[in-house]
Amino acid sequence: MTFEALGLHTSILKALTEAGYTAPTPVQQQAVPAAISGRDLMVSSQTGSGKTAAFMLPSLHKFAVAAEQQQPVSNGSGGRTPNQEAQSARSRGERPRFRPAQPKMLVLTPTRELALQVTTATDKYGVFMRRVKAVSILGGMPYPKQMQLLSRNPEILVATPGRLIDHMESGKIDFSQLQVLVLDEADRMLDMGFIDDIERIVAATPETRQTMLFSATLDGVVGSMAKRITRDPLVIQIASAATKHENIQQRVHFVDDLSHKNRLLDHLLRDVSMDQAVVFTATKRDADNIADRLNIAGFAAAALHGDMHQGARNRTLDGMRRGQVRVLVATDVAARGIDVPGITHVFNYDLPKFPEDYVHRIGRTGRAGRKGTAVSLVNHSEGMNVKRIERFTKQTIPVDVIEGYEPKKTASAPRKSSGWRPGDNRRNNTAKPGQRTFAKPGNGTGTGAGPRREGSGGGYNKGPHREGGNGGGYNKGSRFGDSNGGGNRRSYGDR
Ligand code: AMP
Repeated sequence: MTFEALGLHTSILKALTEAGYTAPTPVQQQAVPAAISGRDLMVSSQTGSGKTAAFMLPSLHKFAVAAEQQQPVSNGSGGRTPNQEAQSARSRGERPRFRPAQPKMLVLTPTRELALQVTTATDKYGVFMRRVKAVSILGGMPYPKQMQLLSRNPEILVATPGRLIDHMESGKIDFSQLQVLVLDEADRMLDMGFIDDIERIVAATPETRQTMLFSATLDGVVGSMAKRITRDPLVIQIASAATKHENIQQRVHFVDDLSHKNRLLDHLLRDVSMDQAVVFTATKRDADNIADRLNIAGFAAAALHGDMHQGARNRTLDGMRRGQVRVLVATDVAARGIDVPGITHVFNYDLPKFPEDYVHRIGRTGRAGRKGTAVSLVNHSEGMNVKRIERFTKQTIPVDVIEGYEPKKTASAPRKSSGWRPGDNRRNNTAKPGQRTFAKPGNGTGTGAGPRREGSGGGYNKGPHREGGNGGGYNKGSRFGDSNGGGNRRSYGDR
């Protein structure tokens, strides 16, 4: 399958060649022709699957075709941008009349980083098109700057929901001309408590719009919302190697305490096969502290979390892309959407609270078909959390022990029932000191798919944070109920 066969406009084909893309990914193969034909889409695919191009290429194609056919931009201003209108009003000695931006396409994303990434990708795919402007409307960006961007009447808006609502309420955006609505990482937006904002935004768009929803899962609340806002959608479920993370070697190391964990992390970060790494922590404070500690230890490390200003976050990510930062120490939300090909390793310094976050975290490595390594440093008391992740991903994560860094404890209660013991992998350990031993699933250590799969409650989806949503309305705060509820989480990603 080639991009030509998908029927894309020549200007887009040229941009794809320039970007070095040779063939469409599975999600692109299915989504692009359907979207060109105007169908709504409900797509379950992970980050790394090429989903951005899957919704952006067909939309750009349609804009390119419309531009060729010289379809007027019917925004009631004779095709002039609000900026041009203001200038001509001033030249007539009149006070410029404010005209809201009238985008043709809106992409909603959960985080600023993902929004910026989508905008950058759009610029890349549309580089040879005559006039397509994509701008990001984000929390954390100064309002005057955003007003300036909106005054250019961009065709494409990429926005986080909260800030977009602010602009809608102050009359800066008018969706009457909107043709395409995309919800990117919709499950994550719901997790972050954006359900009401999304409903309001959708209600402000024309019924005639094309809607494309992308999500890691189409189950539960996100699935019912998807059905509500789409019309006769084509449902695409991508179970690619990237989705299953077959290209990412995962493993768990058990640790006795913090000092053991820190020593082990230092050791693992010296792995010669490591190019760049992301270390995930549970708190922003830990992200700062560990980045400081690693810098002192001689690693080029930097923290990334939601308390940092957007400028500082962008600088850190740029440093990562340029290879100046080797170890990024990040919290979940800040690291969401990071797409840096050099990330070979992901370390869970702290396990994520929820299994979906594990999937998102490890997806920072193994980008675009490369190989990656994901290592979780786990306290003995957290065995049950590993088990939940295994149920969610339907994969067994092998336990690894490095000589010289062995855990002192030899058993952890939750794992006992599964037939597994920390240290099991060491029984046949013939490795030299410092050399890693690696246990494959089902190699006689009791980590095979059989007993460990047999959980009592069924899949993780039935677990605590989903329960609120099962009876109907989405429970905004349930997932983060032990902090400040959904509201607290929102302050990370938006406004
Ligand atoms: P995404 O899933 O949209 O975050 O894309 C993941 C990565 O794959 C990005 O770095 C894209 O630039 C890259 N990518 C997307 N589509 C293709 C393709 N057809 N060929 C090669 N790389 C691609």
